[in-house]
Amino acid sequence: MNDIVARLEHNREQSEILDGGRRCLLMRPDVLMGMLRGLDETTRAQALKSFTRSAYEHGGRSIHAYAKDASEPNLLDVVCATSAGLGWGKWVIEAKRDRLRLTVHNSPFAWGHGAPSCPVCAPIVGILQSVATEILAVPVVAEELACGAMSKGPTCEFVAYRQAGSQKET
Ligand SMILES: [Zn+2]
Repeated sequence: MNDIVARLEHNREQSEILDGGRRCLLMRPDVLMGMLRGLDETTRAQALKSFTRSAYEHGGRSIHAYAKDASEPNLLDVVCATSAGLGWGKWVIEAKRDRLRLTVHNSPFAWGHGAPSCPVCAPIVGILQSVATEILAVPVVAEELACGAMSKGPTCEFVAYRQAGSQKET
């Protein structure tokens, strides 16, 4: 079930693409990220924060559905396979006791933006936050430590960890 490419349903009558009832969209990364490039620094920072929150909330519904799917016991494998299938780059997630580290090769968001003054892979941060919330079962903080768009390198590095003062649910 974790092959998103085989699973996507193209409904030609409605002109929509669905993943198990959740609507998806294909678009050029430079079109999406060019919207951010056109903003001043302050507004761009606000937009990136809002982008992260939206990915956490809305993309998090997909993550929650994957986590509840008993046929797929390893959520991290599903997330990495799904990200690759949707063109979100090649994800490698390393789970430690109280944190997740994520390396993304060939992020479409870094590719689509080019030469920013801050990390731009905000939707990946939001998805990582929702994955870490499912796995750690506590409120978490997620951030992009290094963005390939800034370094002109092929990889972006992310981390998610328990929010200070949060207790694991029992
Ligand atoms: Zn990045």
